[in-house]
Amino acid sequence: MPYYYKPHTPEWFAALEAVDPIKATVTRIVVAAQGTNVCSVCGEGPSQDYELIDKQMQKNAVATIRLCDDCLKIKRHVHREKLSRFGQPVN
Ligand SMILES: [Zn+2]
Repeated sequence: MPYYYKPHTPEWFAALEAVDPIKATVTRIVVAAQGTNVCSVCGEGPSQDYELIDKQMQKNAVATIRLCDDCLKIKRHVHREKLSRFGQPVN
């Protein structure tokens, strides 16, 4: 079962470190420099929390991420990821 921790919390970083230590390190640097309320990918704000909708996820995947609007668009339109707002019902 993938993990649905709130992005940038200690448990989220620990879960991400197990599956993608490089991404975890990059996001730690971003958060240390810019604060926690920024995009997990690029460090820009404003940002919001999203969860990945993907039945093929590996069982220890981290399904949540904090994204700015630009990175959300890239994930949706370039990487074809299905993302919904974290903690809200899927329509
Ligand atoms: Zn971003």
